[in-house]
Amino acid sequence: MIPGGSSYMDVPEFHPSNQDSSPIGSSTESENSQLSKKIASSVSKLGLSSTGSMHELLECPVCTNSMYPPIHQCPNGHTLCSSCKLRVHNHCPTCRCELGSIRCLALEKVAESLEMPCRYHNLGCSDIFLYYNKLKHEQTCGFRPYNCPYAGSECLITGDIPSLVSHLKHDHKVDMHDGCTFNHRYVKTNPHEVENATWMLTVFNCFGQHFCLHFEAFLLGVVPVYMAFLRFMGDENEAKSFSYSLEVGGNNRKLIWQGVPRSIRDSHKKVRDSYDGLVIHRNMALFFSSGNRKELKLRITGRIWKE
Ligand SMILES: [Zn+2]
Ligand SMILES: [Zn+2]
Ligand SMILES: [Zn+2]
Ligand SMILES: [Zn+2]
Repeated sequence: MIPGGSSYMDVPEFHPSNQDSSPIGSSTESENSQLSKKIASSVSKLGLSSTGSMHELLECPVCTNSMYPPIHQCPNGHTLCSSCKLRVHNHCPTCRCELGSIRCLALEKVAESLEMPCRYHNLGCSDIFLYYNKLKHEQTCGFRPYNCPYAGSECLITGDIPSLVSHLKHDHKVDMHDGCTFNHRYVKTNPHEVENATWMLTVFNCFGQHFCLHFEAFLLGVVPVYMAFLRFMGDENEAKSFSYSLEVGGNNRKLIWQGVPRSIRDSHKKVRDSYDGLVIHRNMALFFSSGNRKELKLRITGRIWKE
C-alpha cells in the first residue's frame, strides 16, 4: 500500500488535529508543537487521572513497552516504539500502510513534562519521576521484583522474596533447610562426561533471611571445574552484612573458601563468571572423592554468619 492510499478513518485519540485535511504523512514541527499544547492543556484540564491515560498513549501498541524517543508514527497517526519499527518491515502493524520515517514529536514533547510514579509503586516505591528519568530509576529501584534464583532452567518468574521462596519450594521442589551451618553431598557418576551441569539448588533459612547454595560444573577455559557459591535472597547492601565459608576435602586435604554472599540481583552466571566462590578443579574434586575417579562424591560443609 502506498502512503496516503488508505482511508483517513482511523483517528488516534492523542492526535485530535488529524481530523482536519492536512496532507497525510506530513507531520511538521509547528503542527506538532500545536498538538503538544493541545494535549498538554487537555491533560491539565483532566487533572491527575489523565496521567494514566497519557501513560497508555505512551505505551507502544505493539509490544506494550513504554515508548521513548524516537517515537514513530504511520501516516495515519498510529504510534509505535523504535524497536518495533525495526521489526515490522516498514508497515504499520495497525493499518498496514507504509510507515516511512515520521516521528511523533508531539508525543515525545508531552512526555517530557509528564510526571509519573515509579512502575513499582504498588510494590512500595512512592517516588515520582519525570517520564524520561523514570526508566533509569526503575532499572535500580529497590522495590523492583527479583528474578527467580533457580539456575539450570530459564524460569521467568519474578516477585518479592517471600513469593519467590514459596515458588522455589512448591514449583522447583528445592531442598529447604533451617540453620546457618550445612553439610551437603554432591554426587555424579561418570563426571568425565559432564562439562556443564547445575545441581539442585539448596535454600537455607537463617537470621530470618534466605540463602541459595549453588553447585555447578563448567569449563574454566579448557579446565573442567566445579564451583560452589552462596547467593543472598535480597538486595546487595543487605547481602554485604553476611559472610560465609565453604569447605571441601578428602584424603586429609581440604580447600576452604570464605566470602560474602552475592545478591540474587546478580545472576548465577554472573557470579560464576567472576569466580566469586569455591572453585574446585575436576582432578582435585576426584582426588577428594577417593575411589576409582569414576564417581564424583564431594562433601561440602559451610557456615553463614552475620558481620
Ligand atoms: Zn514496541
Ligand atoms: Zn497505521
Ligand atoms: Zn521505584
Ligand atoms: Zn522459578
